[in-house]
Amino acid sequence: MSKPLPETGTDWNQLKARMADYAGGDVRWRDGKTAVYVFNAGPEVERIQKEAYSLFMSENGLGPAAFPSLKRMEEEVIGFGLGLLHGPDGASGVMTSGGTDSITMAIKAARDYGRKVRGITGPLNIVLPRSAHLAFDKAAALMEIEVRRVPLRDMLADAQAMGEVADEATIMIVGSAPNFPFGLIDPIGELSALAVDRDLWLHVDACVGGYIAPFVRMNGGDVPPFDFELAGVRSISADLHKYGYCAKGASTLFFRSADLMAHMIFDMRDWPGGRMVTPTLAGTRPGGAISAAWAVMNHLGVAGYREKQGQVTQAREKIEAGARALGFEILGKPQLGIVAFRHPDVASLAVWSKLRERGWFASLTTEPQSLHLMLSPFHAQVADQYLTDLAWALGEARSAAPVATKEVRYS
Ligand SMILES: *Cc1c(COP(=O)(O)O)cnc(C)c1O
Repeated sequence: MSKPLPETGTDWNQLKARMADYAGGDVRWRDGKTAVYVFNAGPEVERIQKEAYSLFMSENGLGPAAFPSLKRMEEEVIGFGLGLLHGPDGASGVMTSGGTDSITMAIKAARDYGRKVRGITGPLNIVLPRSAHLAFDKAAALMEIEVRRVPLRDMLADAQAMGEVADEATIMIVGSAPNFPFGLIDPIGELSALAVDRDLWLHVDACVGGYIAPFVRMNGGDVPPFDFELAGVRSISADLHKYGYCAKGASTLFFRSADLMAHMIFDMRDWPGGRMVTPTLAGTRPGGAISAAWAVMNHLGVAGYREKQGQVTQAREKIEAGARALGFEILGKPQLGIVAFRHPDVASLAVWSKLRERGWFASLTTEPQSLHLMLSPFHAQVADQYLTDLAWALGEARSAAPVATKEVRYS
Protein backbone atom coordinates (compact mmCIF):
# COMPACT_ATOMS: atom_id res chain seq x y z
CA MET A 1 0.00 0.00 0.00
CA SER A 2 1.52 3.29 -0.99
CA LYS A 3 1.78 6.21 1.35
CA PRO A 4 2.63 9.69 0.16
CA LEU A 5 5.99 10.98 1.30
CA PRO A 6 5.27 14.05 3.44
CA GLU A 7 5.37 17.21 1.28
CA THR A 8 7.45 18.99 3.87
CA GLY A 9 9.92 17.70 6.36
CA THR A 10 9.34 17.27 10.07
CA ASP A 11 11.43 18.50 12.94
CA TRP A 12 13.81 15.85 14.30
CA ASN A 13 12.61 16.17 17.89
CA GLN A 14 9.07 15.44 16.81
CA LEU A 15 10.23 12.46 14.80
CA LYS A 16 12.18 11.13 17.74
CA ALA A 17 9.06 11.31 19.86
CA ARG A 18 7.08 9.49 17.20
CA MET A 19 9.69 6.77 16.95
CA ALA A 20 9.59 6.32 20.71
CA ASP A 21 5.84 6.02 20.37
CA TYR A 22 6.18 3.39 17.63
CA ALA A 23 8.54 1.48 19.92
CA GLY A 24 5.93 1.41 22.67
CA GLY A 25 4.66 -1.97 21.51
CA ASP A 26 8.09 -3.57 21.19
CA VAL A 27 9.38 -6.25 23.52
CA ARG A 28 11.09 -4.97 26.69
CA TRP A 29 14.50 -6.40 25.95
CA ARG A 30 16.37 -3.88 28.10
CA ASP A 31 14.49 -5.30 31.08
CA GLY A 32 15.86 -8.73 30.19
CA LYS A 33 12.46 -10.02 29.11
CA THR A 34 13.52 -11.15 25.66
CA ALA A 35 15.52 -14.31 25.03
CA VAL A 36 15.70 -14.17 21.25
CA TYR A 37 16.76 -11.53 18.68
CA VAL A 38 18.72 -9.30 21.07
CA PHE A 39 21.92 -10.08 22.96
CA ASN A 40 21.91 -7.80 25.94
CA ALA A 41 25.36 -7.29 27.41
CA GLY A 42 24.28 -4.25 29.40
CA PRO A 43 24.14 -0.48 28.84
CA GLU A 44 27.90 0.10 28.64
CA VAL A 45 28.35 -2.27 25.69
CA GLU A 46 25.27 -0.77 24.04
CA ARG A 47 26.75 2.70 24.35
CA ILE A 48 30.06 1.62 22.82
CA GLN A 49 28.27 -0.13 19.94
CA LYS A 50 26.36 3.04 19.19
CA GLU A 51 29.22 5.51 19.45
CA ALA A 52 31.66 3.35 17.53
CA TYR A 53 29.03 2.63 14.88
CA SER A 54 28.23 6.28 14.34
CA LEU A 55 31.91 7.21 14.01
CA PHE A 56 32.16 5.19 10.77
CA MET A 57 28.51 5.10 9.79
CA SER A 58 29.03 6.88 6.48
CA GLU A 59 32.22 5.09 5.53
CA ASN A 60 32.10 2.12 3.20
CA GLY A 61 33.92 -1.17 3.69
CA LEU A 62 33.68 -1.73 -0.07
CA GLY A 63 36.60 0.65 -0.49
CA PRO A 64 39.64 -0.49 1.48
CA ALA A 65 41.90 1.86 -0.48
CA ALA A 66 39.72 4.80 0.48
CA PHE A 67 39.22 3.63 4.05
CA PRO A 68 42.35 1.91 5.31
CA SER A 69 40.86 2.48 8.77
CA LEU A 70 38.06 -0.01 8.10
CA LYS A 71 40.42 -2.44 6.39
CA ARG A 72 42.65 -2.37 9.41
CA MET A 73 39.77 -2.81 11.84
CA GLU A 74 38.34 -5.70 9.83
CA GLU A 75 41.72 -7.40 9.68
CA GLU A 76 42.09 -7.06 13.43
CA VAL A 77 38.59 -8.44 14.06
CA ILE A 78 39.31 -11.39 11.75
CA GLY A 79 42.60 -11.91 13.55
CA PHE A 80 40.83 -12.03 16.91
CA GLY A 81 38.34 -14.57 15.57
CA LEU A 82 41.04 -16.79 14.10
CA GLY A 83 42.95 -16.61 17.35
CA LEU A 84 39.89 -17.77 19.28
CA LEU A 85 39.03 -20.55 16.81
CA HIS A 86 42.50 -22.11 16.41
CA GLY A 87 43.04 -20.72 12.92
CA PRO A 88 46.22 -22.32 11.58
CA ASP A 89 48.92 -20.34 9.78
CA GLY A 90 47.53 -19.11 6.50
CA ALA A 91 43.91 -19.18 7.65
CA SER A 92 41.86 -16.20 6.58
CA GLY A 93 38.43 -14.70 6.81
CA VAL A 94 36.06 -11.83 6.17
CA MET A 95 33.38 -9.90 7.94
CA THR A 96 29.89 -10.30 6.50
CA SER A 97 26.52 -8.80 7.31
CA GLY A 98 25.29 -11.78 9.32
CA GLY A 99 25.11 -15.53 9.69
CA THR A 100 22.98 -16.02 6.59
CA ASP A 101 25.51 -14.06 4.56
CA SER A 102 28.43 -16.04 6.03
CA ILE A 103 26.73 -19.37 5.33
CA THR A 104 25.77 -18.33 1.80
CA MET A 105 29.34 -17.34 1.03
CA ALA A 106 30.74 -20.52 2.56
CA ILE A 107 28.50 -22.57 0.28
CA LYS A 108 29.48 -20.43 -2.71
CA ALA A 109 33.16 -21.06 -1.94
CA ALA A 110 32.60 -24.79 -1.44
CA ARG A 111 30.61 -24.97 -4.66
CA ASP A 112 33.28 -23.28 -6.75
CA TYR A 113 35.93 -25.43 -5.07
CA GLY A 114 33.89 -28.54 -5.84
CA ARG A 115 33.52 -27.58 -9.48
CA LYS A 116 37.04 -26.29 -10.10
CA VAL A 117 39.25 -28.37 -7.85
CA ARG A 118 37.32 -31.61 -7.53
CA GLY A 119 35.88 -31.38 -11.03
CA ILE A 120 32.32 -32.17 -9.99
CA THR A 121 29.90 -31.72 -12.85
CA GLY A 122 26.11 -31.82 -12.77
CA PRO A 123 23.81 -31.27 -9.81
CA LEU A 124 25.37 -30.63 -6.41
CA ASN A 125 24.23 -31.32 -2.88
CA ILE A 126 24.99 -30.41 0.72
CA VAL A 127 24.44 -32.76 3.64
CA LEU A 128 23.04 -31.30 6.85
CA PRO A 129 21.85 -32.62 10.17
CA ARG A 130 18.10 -32.05 10.56
CA SER A 131 18.83 -29.35 13.15
CA ALA A 132 21.03 -27.15 10.94
CA HIS A 133 19.92 -23.56 10.42
CA LEU A 134 17.56 -22.73 7.59
CA ALA A 135 20.14 -20.32 6.19
CA PHE A 136 21.69 -23.36 4.46
CA ASP A 137 18.39 -24.09 2.70
CA LYS A 138 18.01 -20.47 1.70
CA ALA A 139 21.49 -20.31 0.22
CA ALA A 140 21.06 -23.69 -1.44
CA ALA A 141 17.79 -22.51 -2.98
CA LEU A 142 19.55 -19.46 -4.41
CA MET A 143 22.27 -21.60 -5.92
CA GLU A 144 20.02 -24.51 -6.91
CA ILE A 145 21.87 -26.96 -4.74
CA GLU A 146 20.05 -29.96 -3.31
CA VAL A 147 19.77 -30.08 0.49
CA ARG A 148 19.93 -33.49 2.15
CA ARG A 149 18.83 -33.22 5.76
CA VAL A 150 19.73 -36.28 7.77
CA PRO A 151 17.76 -37.39 10.88
CA LEU A 152 19.42 -36.78 14.23
CA ARG A 153 20.73 -39.31 16.70
CA ASP A 154 20.07 -38.26 20.30
CA MET A 155 19.33 -34.75 19.06
CA LEU A 156 22.78 -34.46 17.46
CA ALA A 157 24.21 -34.83 13.97
CA ASP A 158 24.61 -38.49 13.04
CA ALA A 159 28.00 -38.58 11.36
CA GLN A 160 27.62 -42.14 10.16
CA ALA A 161 24.25 -41.53 8.56
CA MET A 162 25.55 -38.33 7.00
CA GLY A 163 28.45 -40.29 5.55
CA GLU A 164 25.97 -42.68 3.96
CA VAL A 165 24.03 -39.84 2.40
CA ALA A 166 27.08 -37.95 1.09
CA ASP A 167 28.21 -38.86 -2.42
CA GLU A 168 30.44 -37.69 -5.25
CA ALA A 169 28.28 -34.59 -5.75
CA THR A 170 28.44 -33.46 -2.12
CA ILE A 171 30.17 -30.11 -1.92
CA MET A 172 29.72 -29.62 1.84
CA ILE A 173 28.77 -31.37 5.05
CA VAL A 174 27.71 -29.33 8.04
CA GLY A 175 27.86 -29.51 11.80
CA SER A 176 26.57 -26.86 14.22
CA ALA A 177 28.33 -25.60 17.32
CA PRO A 178 25.73 -25.34 18.69
CA ASN A 179 22.56 -25.86 16.69
CA PHE A 180 19.81 -23.30 17.14
CA PRO A 181 16.87 -25.56 18.09
CA PHE A 182 18.46 -27.18 21.17
CA GLY A 183 21.69 -25.28 21.71
CA LEU A 184 23.64 -28.55 21.49
CA ILE A 185 27.05 -28.97 19.90
CA ASP A 186 27.13 -31.63 17.18
CA PRO A 187 29.90 -34.27 17.33
CA ILE A 188 32.22 -32.15 15.20
CA GLY A 189 35.11 -34.53 15.90
CA GLU A 190 33.24 -37.37 14.19
CA LEU A 191 32.22 -35.14 11.30
CA SER A 192 35.82 -34.02 10.94
CA ALA A 193 37.01 -37.63 10.77
CA LEU A 194 34.40 -38.29 8.07
CA ALA A 195 35.50 -35.17 6.17
CA VAL A 196 39.16 -36.16 6.30
CA ASP A 197 38.41 -39.74 5.34
CA ARG A 198 36.27 -38.80 2.35
CA ASP A 199 37.92 -35.50 1.45
CA LEU A 200 34.68 -33.60 2.12
CA TRP A 201 34.34 -29.91 2.95
CA LEU A 202 33.16 -29.64 6.55
CA HIS A 203 31.60 -26.31 7.47
CA VAL A 204 31.05 -25.65 11.15
CA ASP A 205 28.12 -23.35 11.79
CA ALA A 206 29.29 -21.60 14.93
CA CYS A 207 27.08 -18.59 14.22
CA VAL A 208 25.62 -18.65 17.70
CA GLY A 209 28.53 -20.41 19.42
CA GLY A 210 31.75 -19.10 17.93
CA TYR A 211 32.12 -16.18 20.30
CA ILE A 212 30.88 -17.88 23.43
CA ALA A 213 32.35 -21.40 23.30
CA PRO A 214 36.03 -20.35 23.59
CA PHE A 215 35.28 -18.30 26.70
CA VAL A 216 33.08 -20.92 28.32
CA ARG A 217 36.02 -23.26 27.86
CA MET A 218 38.43 -20.73 29.41
CA ASN A 219 36.01 -20.50 32.32
CA GLY A 220 36.39 -24.23 32.87
CA GLY A 221 33.46 -25.47 30.75
CA ASP A 222 33.92 -28.85 29.14
CA VAL A 223 33.49 -27.75 25.52
CA PRO A 224 34.66 -30.37 23.01
CA PRO A 225 36.87 -29.38 20.06
CA PHE A 226 34.73 -27.86 17.32
CA ASP A 227 36.90 -25.45 15.35
CA PHE A 228 40.06 -25.48 13.17
CA GLU A 229 41.70 -27.61 15.84
CA LEU A 230 39.97 -30.43 13.96
CA ALA A 231 41.70 -31.17 10.66
CA GLY A 232 38.51 -31.71 8.65
CA VAL A 233 37.06 -28.27 9.34
CA ARG A 234 37.49 -26.08 6.26
CA SER A 235 35.24 -23.15 7.10
CA ILE A 236 33.49 -21.68 10.14
CA SER A 237 30.75 -19.08 10.43
CA ALA A 238 30.59 -17.11 13.69
CA ASP A 239 28.30 -14.16 14.30
CA LEU A 240 29.65 -11.10 16.04
CA HIS A 241 26.14 -9.70 16.43
CA LYS A 242 25.19 -12.61 18.66
CA TYR A 243 27.51 -13.61 21.52
CA GLY A 244 30.19 -11.22 20.25
CA TYR A 245 27.83 -8.46 21.54
CA CYS A 246 28.60 -6.32 18.49
CA ALA A 247 26.13 -4.13 16.62
CA LYS A 248 23.86 -5.90 14.17
CA GLY A 249 25.10 -6.50 10.67
CA ALA A 250 28.30 -8.23 11.75
CA SER A 251 29.37 -11.82 11.30
CA THR A 252 32.64 -13.53 10.45
CA LEU A 253 33.44 -16.28 7.99
CA PHE A 254 36.74 -18.10 8.27
CA PHE A 255 38.58 -20.50 5.97
CA ARG A 256 41.40 -22.88 6.80
CA SER A 257 43.47 -21.33 4.01
CA ALA A 258 43.51 -18.34 1.72
CA ASP A 259 43.33 -20.79 -1.21
CA LEU A 260 39.96 -22.03 -0.01
CA MET A 261 38.78 -18.48 0.59
CA ALA A 262 39.78 -17.49 -2.93
CA HIS A 263 36.80 -19.50 -4.21
CA MET A 264 34.46 -17.10 -2.41
CA ILE A 265 35.75 -13.85 -3.85
CA PHE A 266 33.98 -12.29 -6.81
CA ASP A 267 36.36 -10.50 -9.15
CA MET A 268 34.67 -8.82 -12.09
CA ARG A 269 36.03 -6.57 -14.79
CA ASP A 270 33.94 -7.33 -17.86
CA TRP A 271 31.52 -4.41 -17.68
CA PRO A 272 31.87 -0.68 -18.27
CA GLY A 273 32.34 0.24 -14.61
CA GLY A 274 35.82 -1.14 -14.23
CA ARG A 275 37.18 -3.95 -12.11
CA MET A 276 35.46 -4.59 -8.79
CA VAL A 277 36.49 -7.19 -6.27
CA THR A 278 33.90 -8.08 -3.65
CA PRO A 279 34.62 -10.80 -1.13
CA THR A 280 31.09 -11.22 0.19
CA LEU A 281 27.55 -10.93 -1.10
CA ALA A 282 27.39 -7.22 -0.37
CA GLY A 283 28.69 -4.39 -2.49
CA THR A 284 28.50 -1.47 -0.12
CA ARG A 285 29.47 -2.59 3.35
CA PRO A 286 28.46 -0.47 6.35
CA GLY A 287 31.58 0.88 8.02
CA GLY A 288 29.72 1.13 11.30
CA ALA A 289 29.23 -2.61 11.60
CA ILE A 290 33.00 -3.03 11.28
CA SER A 291 33.99 -0.22 13.64
CA ALA A 292 31.44 -1.22 16.27
CA ALA A 293 32.69 -4.80 16.21
CA TRP A 294 36.27 -3.63 16.52
CA ALA A 295 35.42 -1.36 19.44
CA VAL A 296 33.33 -3.87 21.38
CA MET A 297 35.93 -6.62 21.01
CA ASN A 298 38.73 -4.37 22.14
CA HIS A 299 36.63 -2.97 24.96
CA LEU A 300 35.71 -6.36 26.35
CA GLY A 301 38.92 -8.25 25.68
CA VAL A 302 39.30 -11.79 26.97
CA ALA A 303 38.55 -10.76 30.54
CA GLY A 304 35.36 -8.94 29.55
CA TYR A 305 34.09 -11.80 27.41
CA ARG A 306 34.90 -14.34 30.10
CA GLU A 307 32.89 -12.32 32.57
CA LYS A 308 29.90 -11.86 30.24
CA GLN A 309 29.90 -15.51 29.14
CA GLY A 310 30.19 -16.54 32.78
CA GLN A 311 26.98 -14.63 33.42
CA VAL A 312 25.30 -16.42 30.53
CA THR A 313 26.37 -19.78 31.94
CA GLN A 314 25.17 -18.76 35.38
CA ALA A 315 21.77 -17.73 34.01
CA ARG A 316 21.46 -20.94 32.03
CA GLU A 317 22.39 -23.18 34.92
CA LYS A 318 20.03 -21.41 37.27
CA ILE A 319 17.14 -21.62 34.81
CA GLU A 320 17.90 -25.27 34.05
CA ALA A 321 17.86 -26.15 37.74
CA GLY A 322 14.71 -24.13 38.38
CA ALA A 323 12.91 -25.58 35.37
CA ARG A 324 13.87 -29.12 36.39
CA ALA A 325 12.55 -28.49 39.87
CA LEU A 326 9.21 -27.60 38.27
CA GLY A 327 9.18 -30.89 36.38
CA PHE A 328 10.47 -29.68 33.01
CA GLU A 329 12.90 -31.81 31.00
CA ILE A 330 15.95 -30.11 29.51
CA LEU A 331 16.65 -31.26 25.97
CA GLY A 332 20.12 -32.77 25.96
CA LYS A 333 23.00 -31.17 27.82
CA PRO A 334 23.37 -27.59 26.69
CA GLN A 335 26.81 -26.07 27.29
CA LEU A 336 26.53 -22.57 25.88
CA GLY A 337 23.82 -19.92 25.82
CA ILE A 338 20.77 -21.72 24.40
CA VAL A 339 18.53 -24.03 26.38
CA ALA A 340 15.30 -25.77 25.35
CA PHE A 341 12.96 -27.55 27.73
CA ARG A 342 9.48 -29.00 27.91
CA HIS A 343 7.10 -30.44 30.43
CA PRO A 344 5.92 -34.03 30.07
CA ASP A 345 2.30 -33.15 30.98
CA VAL A 346 1.73 -29.57 29.88
CA ALA A 347 1.88 -28.21 26.34
CA SER A 348 4.84 -25.91 25.83
CA LEU A 349 2.69 -23.59 23.75
CA ALA A 350 0.33 -23.05 26.68
CA VAL A 351 3.21 -22.19 29.02
CA TRP A 352 4.79 -20.00 26.37
CA SER A 353 1.53 -18.08 25.88
CA LYS A 354 1.21 -17.46 29.62
CA LEU A 355 4.80 -16.23 29.78
CA ARG A 356 3.99 -13.83 26.96
CA GLU A 357 1.26 -12.34 29.15
CA ARG A 358 3.96 -11.48 31.67
CA GLY A 359 6.07 -9.85 28.99
CA TRP A 360 8.56 -12.69 28.33
CA PHE A 361 9.41 -13.09 24.70
CA ALA A 362 11.25 -16.18 23.50
CA SER A 363 11.07 -18.89 20.86
CA LEU A 364 9.06 -22.08 20.78
CA THR A 365 10.58 -25.03 18.95
CA THR A 366 8.61 -27.71 17.16
CA GLU A 367 10.51 -31.02 17.23
CA PRO A 368 9.76 -31.62 20.02
CA GLN A 369 7.64 -28.65 20.99
CA SER A 370 9.64 -26.90 23.68
CA LEU A 371 10.35 -23.57 25.29
CA HIS A 372 13.56 -22.10 23.95
CA LEU A 373 15.76 -19.44 25.49
CA MET A 374 18.76 -17.77 23.92
CA LEU A 375 20.27 -16.18 26.99
CA SER A 376 22.28 -12.99 27.41
CA PRO A 377 24.54 -11.85 30.24
CA PHE A 378 21.74 -9.61 31.45
CA HIS A 379 19.55 -12.65 32.11
CA ALA A 380 21.66 -13.51 35.14
CA GLN A 381 19.90 -10.59 36.79
CA VAL A 382 16.37 -11.71 35.94
CA ALA A 383 16.65 -15.50 36.13
CA ASP A 384 14.83 -15.60 39.48
CA GLN A 385 12.01 -13.48 38.15
CA TYR A 386 11.78 -15.71 35.08
CA LEU A 387 11.53 -18.82 37.23
CA THR A 388 8.82 -17.26 39.38
CA ASP A 389 6.84 -16.46 36.25
CA LEU A 390 7.57 -19.90 34.75
CA ALA A 391 6.11 -21.55 37.86
CA TRP A 392 3.06 -19.32 37.58
CA ALA A 393 2.71 -19.96 33.83
CA LEU A 394 2.97 -23.71 34.34
CA GLY A 395 0.26 -23.62 36.99
CA GLU A 396 -2.03 -21.54 34.79
CA ALA A 397 -1.43 -23.71 31.75
CA ARG A 398 -1.99 -26.89 33.73
CA SER A 399 -5.35 -25.75 35.01
CA ALA A 400 -6.52 -24.29 31.69
CA ALA A 401 -8.24 -26.36 29.05
CA PRO A 402 -5.79 -28.11 26.75
CA VAL A 403 -4.56 -25.79 24.02
CA ALA A 404 -4.73 -27.04 20.48
CA THR A 405 -1.25 -27.17 19.05
CA LYS A 406 -1.04 -24.64 16.31
CA GLU A 407 1.75 -23.06 14.42
CA VAL A 408 3.13 -20.09 16.26
CA ARG A 409 4.76 -17.31 14.34
CA TYR A 410 6.81 -15.15 16.60
CA SER A 411 8.72 -13.41 13.85
C1 LIG B 1 21.53 -17.02 13.97
C2 LIG B 1 22.01 -18.24 13.32
C3 LIG B 1 22.28 -18.26 11.95
C4 LIG B 1 21.90 -17.13 11.01
O1 LIG B 1 22.42 -15.92 11.36
P1 LIG B 1 21.73 -14.52 10.97
O2 LIG B 1 22.70 -13.53 11.49
O3 LIG B 1 20.40 -14.48 11.67
O4 LIG B 1 21.58 -14.46 9.50
C5 LIG B 1 22.83 -19.41 11.43
N1 LIG B 1 23.09 -20.47 12.21
C6 LIG B 1 22.83 -20.48 13.53
C7 LIG B 1 23.14 -21.70 14.34
C8 LIG B 1 22.27 -19.37 14.12
O5 LIG B 1 21.98 -19.37 15.43
